[in-house]
Amino acid sequence: MSAKAITDLSQLCIHTITTKPWNIEEAVKRFSQAGVKGITVWRDALEKRNVQDTGGMIRDHGMDIVSLCRGGFFCGTTRESRRAAIDDNRRAIDEARELGTNLVVLVCGADPNQSLEDSRNQIQDGIASLVPHAESANVRLAIEPLHPMYADTRSAINTLRQANDMASAIGSRYVGVAVDVYHLWWDPELQSEITRCGMNNHLFAFHICDWKVPTVDLLLDRGIMGEGCIPVKKIRGWVEGAGFAGYNEVEIFSTTHWKSDQGEFLSRIIDAYKNNS
Ligand code: ZN
Repeated sequence: MSAKAITDLSQLCIHTITTKPWNIEEAVKRFSQAGVKGITVWRDALEKRNVQDTGGMIRDHGMDIVSLCRGGFFCGTTRESRRAAIDDNRRAIDEARELGTNLVVLVCGADPNQSLEDSRNQIQDGIASLVPHAESANVRLAIEPLHPMYADTRSAINTLRQANDMASAIGSRYVGVAVDVYHLWWDPELQSEITRCGMNNHLFAFHICDWKVPTVDLLLDRGIMGEGCIPVKKIRGWVEGAGFAGYNEVEIFSTTHWKSDQGEFLSRIIDAYKNNS
């Protein structure tokens, strides 16, 4: 199924990290003025702020809070570090509820001092142990697979198949997956695994940006849609074909774009959203 052209901003969400030089108050003001309807809040944007009041401020601007980024980082070689990680994820769930969103995105973690299998087991145990707290807070958890170049320290979950398998193994309607085109565009199983997500009703989030050629930094060189080689529109078609009707979330970490005028950057994002997504 191919995606319909985007004609309005009703499904556009932008992550606070995308315009990192702006604090959350500035980002909310500028996004809402530009007609952006959704925002995903990174936890660092909430530092030194009352979370509930910040949620109210966002809603007062007529915007939906799509998710809180990010929980996760479950892996560690000691029981203490793993327990501390689970405690921090409980706090993330509480923050999401206070903020007024029902989704926490998980960057699951990895520890190069142990095998990937051990890390994956710890991730699954960690998420499973959070399910009762997530249910009582009515906050869902989305496993976000990360590109394999991050398998050393950021995530031992590197394909959508692994994320789908884990969500199914945990078997709670509060646990699903986030599809980020930056991490998954290369995967020959992407289309079939997106279809599987939809059949399992656990496709919770869709993140977009682009893969620049050449990419000069493993973390901070993401592109605006159309700047690189990811077929964003094609993947959006698969996601929508799987029944996803949520926000298209623009998540760009880029030292290059952060150095530019953020107002112009926001205009470019909106233009690229309409024409290259
Ligand atoms: Zn993402």
